[in-house]
Amino acid sequence: MLTNFVAHGIEMKSQLIEEKLLLKKVKPTAMRLLVMEYFVNESTATSLRQLESHFDHSDMSTLYRTLKTFVEHNILHTIDDGSGTIKYAKCIDGCICEPQDLHYHFHCLACKKTICLTEQSIPSVQLPENYSMSDANMVVKGICAECNK
Ligand SMILES: [Zn+2]
Ligand SMILES: [Zn+2]
Ligand SMILES: [Zn+2]
Repeated sequence: MLTNFVAHGIEMKSQLIEEKLLLKKVKPTAMRLLVMEYFVNESTATSLRQLESHFDHSDMSTLYRTLKTFVEHNILHTIDDGSGTIKYAKCIDGCICEPQDLHYHFHCLACKKTICLTEQSIPSVQLPENYSMSDANMVVKGICAECNK
C-alpha cells in the first residue's frame, strides 16, 4: 500500500519535471530529467564538479552540455560568487534572465554555499548615456544561518 503511494508520488513528480522542460522548449532526455530533478530539489547553487560527483562521475561533457542548454533556455542561471568556480542555480518561474530578473546572491564564507536571494532584485543602476547593461554580479558574503548556529 505504502509502496504504491510512494511510486505514484515519484511518477507525479517526474511528470512535473518533464512539463517544466517542455514549457521551456527543451526536449526531456533522460539526463536532462535527472539534472532538472536535482536542481528542483536543491536550494544551493551547484558547480559542474559538484554535479559530476553527485551523479557518480557521469560524463562531464554531457553534464556540461546539459547545463549549457538549461542556461540558454532560462531554466538555470550562472553565478560568479568569487570562489573561482561558476555555479548554477534554478531560475524562478517566469524568469527570462534579463537584467530585471537579476537578484542578489549570498555566499557563506564558512560552508562555501551560495544561495539565490530571489526576493531582492538588484536596484537599477544609472549608467552613462549609450551604455547598456547585460549583467551584474551582486554577491553578499557572510555567514549563513546554518553556520551561525
Ligand atoms: Zn533566469
Ligand atoms: Zn554556511
Ligand atoms: Zn540566483
